[in-house]
Amino acid sequence: MGNATNRATGNATGELTGKTALVTGGSRGIGRAVALRLAAEGALVAVHYGGNDAAAKETVAAIEAAGGRAFAVRARFGEEGAVDRLFEGLVEGLAGRGLDIVVNNAGIISGNSIAQVTQAELDRLLAINVSTPFFVVQRALPLMNDGGRIVNMGSTASRFAVSTQIGYTISKAALESMTPSLANELGCRGITVNTVAPGAIRTDMTAGYTSIPEVVAGLESITALGRLGEPEDVADVVGFLAGPRGRWVTGQTIDVSGGTYLGPIAHA
Ligand code: NAP
Repeated sequence: MGNATNRATGNATGELTGKTALVTGGSRGIGRAVALRLAAEGALVAVHYGGNDAAAKETVAAIEAAGGRAFAVRARFGEEGAVDRLFEGLVEGLAGRGLDIVVNNAGIISGNSIAQVTQAELDRLLAINVSTPFFVVQRALPLMNDGGRIVNMGSTASRFAVSTQIGYTISKAALESMTPSLANELGCRGITVNTVAPGAIRTDMTAGYTSIPEVVAGLESITALGRLGEPEDVADVVGFLAGPRGRWVTGQTIDVSGGTYLGPIAHA
């Protein structure tokens, strides 16, 4: 499992004490760092995952070892009844509490250009990256407390063209397009809705190319801050949006890419 020992994020202030959070795909990668971050701030975190029991257990154990509270919920998105199973486990784990924070993080990628993408592949991308988060929000809303937070995990893939990620790109663009509509509808409840759009982050999802030095060098050369991202770089932004300091930001897509593809970089 990549990134099993995520670096510590900023100093915790306990600003989410008494809050509850659902992080989909919270067992590995970016979701894991988000789950650790929200738990470090005091939230009770539902760590959702699709099938890797060991990774989910490890994440819950890491949260508990740091003094936080979490429980795991298994539901394989893309399978019939997955959202029902997620909410059965979530409601049981919340034990009567409402839900304050939803992070729609679970997602998949595919690496094919227009000529190769099959109907089944596109259907799966749209089912897991778009339809499922849509219905997660629909199911979460009756459970959510006023003043809550929704964060959707987008991608810079919807900002710039990577021809071999065309299916992924349209799925992330569709996910991101939910954000302003939801923000407008939920503002009256004090619920904020935002998209966080990471660039390349070192996780299992990207291990295929982040393990190739030439590819890493190429990505670094088009990134203003000159390195690849780590899951904690994203988790800190989600933590900000999920906490009280993010209260006046809604309906936005926040690029979290270290400034990837901003334009030509003048090297000193
Ligand atoms: P990752 O390392 O592959 O982790 C994926 C997580 O989602 C795991 O917890 C996994 O649980 C869960 N998951 C995957 N498929 C699932 C399914 N069908 N049903 C339920 N859970 C499922 O991915 P990541 O790199 O952290 O990416 C997380 C999110 O950030 C994704 O939405 C991705 O598109 C987005 N993103 C990533 C990057 C990047 O460079 N890594 C950049 C931009 C955006 P199991 O292991 O149990 O299945």
